[in-house]
Amino acid sequence: MADLDLSNVPIASVMDGDKIGQIIIEKFTLKPFCEMCNSFDCIHVKYAMSFKQVRKNFIESVKRICHNCGHYNDNDANYCVHCGKKLAKSGDDKQ
Ligand SMILES: [Zn+2]
Ligand SMILES: [Zn+2]
Repeated sequence: MADLDLSNVPIASVMDGDKIGQIIIEKFTLKPFCEMCNSFDCIHVKYAMSFKQVRKNFIESVKRICHNCGHYNDNDANYCVHCGKKLAKSGDDKQ
């Protein structure tokens, strides 16, 4: 299955038995989403988000997703390369 949808931003890989899936950032809700279960709150999402590194990865990645068009931009981009909208860049990490 070749799915090259760049808007699906993986933040972690999860394994369950012989299945391997990915936790992605769902671009409309900007929430972690399990591709394996098609769920926002399955055990895999909870497990992945229990890791500090994954949460950090998630927060950093969300900042790069354009809230206007859903395009995933480079880390140093200040404006969306797709629609030109200014990307939300905030220094405050709300816990
Ligand atoms: Zn799952
Ligand atoms: Zn955009």
